[in-house]
Amino acid sequence: MPRNPILEEKMNVFTSVAALRAELAKVDAPGIGFVPTMGALHAGHRSLVERARQENTTVVVSVFVNPTQFNDPNDLRHYPRTPEADARLLEEAGADYVLMPSAEEIYPEPDTRQFDFGQIDKVMEGATRPGHFNGVAQVVSRLFDIVKPARAYFGEKDFQQIAVIRAMIAQLRLPIEIVECPIVRDKDGLALSSRNQLLDTAHRAAAPHIYATLRAAVERSHSLSPAELETWVIAQIELNPLLKTIYYHSVDATSLQKVADWSSPRIQGCIAVQAGSVRLIDNIRIR
Ligand code: AMP
Repeated sequence: MPRNPILEEKMNVFTSVAALRAELAKVDAPGIGFVPTMGALHAGHRSLVERARQENTTVVVSVFVNPTQFNDPNDLRHYPRTPEADARLLEEAGADYVLMPSAEEIYPEPDTRQFDFGQIDKVMEGATRPGHFNGVAQVVSRLFDIVKPARAYFGEKDFQQIAVIRAMIAQLRLPIEIVECPIVRDKDGLALSSRNQLLDTAHRAAAPHIYATLRAAVERSHSLSPAELETWVIAQIELNPLLKTIYYHSVDATSLQKVADWSSPRIQGCIAVQAGSVRLIDNIRIR
């Protein structure tokens, strides 16, 4: 869709939540599409912004490394930050408004809310990164409240995160449509991630083995049970001594619980792998 006519062909970058709110009060609310990110933007993020551009009159992107979703202080400290390059990419991709706030802008008071999404946030990333999804729900609900989008765009790369966001908008009864966007990969199959730039040469060379294994797992699922497939995937990943499986689960795509057989209508294979100091996630549709 064309840009909102009240805007000049120029992207606006805000650090102030109040200033962004004041601007957004002037635009047509049903035409607002929103893409939350943590920056260090790549072609995966760009695909979300471009999709939002097609479907909305106003496109808002946030770039905010949310401290409350990091369970590991070292991970937060080393998370890549490239604000100038991010602003250039967003301008090119057609964003209208960018919010690049400080932590104090987002959390003037500490956010003490504790969410409970039942079993969805207890498994996989939830089980191995305590507090992670509570922090995601805190920041995304706060950003939704600031931007008040009609549609919000999320990547299937973070498959479990989408389920958590859906549970959150149901719990808070927010009138927001969640748009799921496919995973963008490098030529060698590695799912694009801001964390990829933290990989050293050897681990970067090893990392495409993750997606190659997921693809092979889809084939193997025709002759193995889900439990056998889990064992096979872990062993297959670790044929490469630089990679260590944190978990692999074949899950029902709605409940995110492990399946006992292949009868669910949609089953996703979800994996987390430690590659040196970098934690990588990926997933694939099995059925
Ligand atoms: P992040 O900056 O990692 O928090 O990601 C912001 C949004 O971009 C999330 O909805 C991610 O799922 C999405 N995203 C990240 N990497 C990719 C990718 N390779 N393909 C598609 N979407 C992605």
